[in-house]
Amino acid sequence: MHFSKLFIPTLKESPADAEVISHKLMVRAGMIRQVASGIYSILPLGLRVLRKVEQIIREEMNQIDGQEVFLPSIQPAELWIESKRWDFYGKELLRIKDRHGREFCYGPTHEEVITDIVRKEVKSYRQLPILLYQIQTKFRDEVRPRFGIMRGREFMMKDAYSFHTDEEDTQRTYNQMAQAYTNIFNRCGLNFKQVQADSGTIGGSFSHEFAVLADSGEDDIGFCESCGYASNLELAESKPPAPSTPPATRQEIKEVETPGQKSVEDVAGFLNLSARQIVKTILLENEHGLVAGLVRGDHEINPVKLKNLIGCEWLQPAGEEVISRHPELHCGYVGPVGLDLPVYADCEISAMYDFVTGANKTSTHFTGVQVERDLKIKQFSDIRTVKADDPCPRCERGVYQVKRGIEVGHIFILGTKYSSAMKAVYLDQQGKENAMIMGCYGIGVGRTAAAAIEQNHDDKGIVWPRNLAPFQVIIIPVNYSNEDLKTVCDTIYDQLQETGIETLLDDRSDRLGGKLKDADLLGIPLQIIVGPKNLSAGQVEIKIRKTNESDLHPYPEVIADIPSILKGL
Ligand code: ATP
Ligand code: MG
Repeated sequence: MHFSKLFIPTLKESPADAEVISHKLMVRAGMIRQVASGIYSILPLGLRVLRKVEQIIREEMNQIDGQEVFLPSIQPAELWIESKRWDFYGKELLRIKDRHGREFCYGPTHEEVITDIVRKEVKSYRQLPILLYQIQTKFRDEVRPRFGIMRGREFMMKDAYSFHTDEEDTQRTYNQMAQAYTNIFNRCGLNFKQVQADSGTIGGSFSHEFAVLADSGEDDIGFCESCGYASNLELAESKPPAPSTPPATRQEIKEVETPGQKSVEDVAGFLNLSARQIVKTILLENEHGLVAGLVRGDHEINPVKLKNLIGCEWLQPAGEEVISRHPELHCGYVGPVGLDLPVYADCEISAMYDFVTGANKTSTHFTGVQVERDLKIKQFSDIRTVKADDPCPRCERGVYQVKRGIEVGHIFILGTKYSSAMKAVYLDQQGKENAMIMGCYGIGVGRTAAAAIEQNHDDKGIVWPRNLAPFQVIIIPVNYSNEDLKTVCDTIYDQLQETGIETLLDDRSDRLGGKLKDADLLGIPLQIIVGPKNLSAGQVEIKIRKTNESDLHPYPEVIADIPSILKGL
């Protein structure tokens, strides 16, 4: 392709609202343009990259016998009412009406549509399993669209759905899918981790996210380099406390005045204790009312773990306004002793003695509190958030590292959630009707490309991993109107194209400096710079974008070496 013919509107400045580097560089490199908040047009260079991601995904999905389909983006409300998500999905679902006043939505995901197809067509165990996937536009009316196409409202997703007769078979496909995702993100040149993820109220440990490690990520990932255990921090397990021997004599419970001392730090300082000797009581609210969670003073409560433990629909820290409706609760002085609420305690509390809690009275705390004597705990469980340097729960020596991650993929065993609600059943060998077991598996196509930029860039621009680059080679003549240079450039171009190497020839009459800057910005892995001085010595310059290293190579011999140079990148 000749540069002058391609629509690559590069910019010197980043858009004012761009917070992350991938957003800035995608706009500057002329890959995307915003149409409305979270809604983007993908321009030719951007589309070349997205197609690369898609192609890699397709190959890996086909490899595990996935069959590609293309489902409608507009979906009738009836299906969503059947699955009970019409109300549950909330404001992220873009609802629309047709001319007859019938309700539809723009699909944020396709469980309903696919389950509807399969329930109508599949009747017998003989027709299962089935694995279908599509690459298609989704719409989610995100609360905070940002980061360009990384968190858009309209975005491209690969979504796959599988249908099975039994759990073992579901698990087999799930494992194959995890391997396919690993292949995909490796081929995309990403540094990622497969992490245990929250499967919410669906239950089981059968959800994993694929997180690309990058500071701009919106998730926290906890992992242990010693044994490889990795989890979304929402779920990362803490190591149970080592058994401890209680002190020979135990303190009596005592009320102490702590005027104005509300936070753990205040109380610890005031009583000259460490935060480890204090138990924090956190009030949370769910659909049934208030609950209390206890964690050690230097720990943080984890609402996701607690929500999964209780099995409620939602759970969030109770605000002052909620607490003020309960006159018996005093903000900053709430404690578990005599508290008339369900009390859940972190495991670590079971190894504590002689500790301090709020006394449910303004400006007062208890000291010398004992679990078995003074507290009524509904359940002990792991309900705290792990932090860096906490011991790994899976191995002896390791400790947690915590890094930010961008979720590029998510795999899930759904069980019979949708098949039961929508009556997707099959007849088994005995002629008995059973609900199909389902799995679903998503990858954000645009988010994957953006994540690749987050991991691969420098101050000059994008540094594409080889397999995602829109072109592998760019030829940059110092002056294309010079007949000799033109002939050489055209020869290199024709030969590379013939070898199947996607090549861009910068035939513009711009100054060399500008062309070199653009080449760096676009991030094409290999630049061939053709100038009169080097050429008169029978040489051309080759610059590797990743290392910014330039070398002179003999012309025309170098043309034959390009494929192997590229392979090594
Ligand atoms: P997030 O927690 O980031 O909102 P999600 O859990 O809602 O993601 P899924 O429903 O699992 O995401 O969607 C599958 C994949 O689609 C995600 O792993 C991600 O790569 C991509 N994706 C989700 N939301 C967006 C978005 N707003 N913009 C771009 N890609 C997205
Ligand atoms: Mg989301």
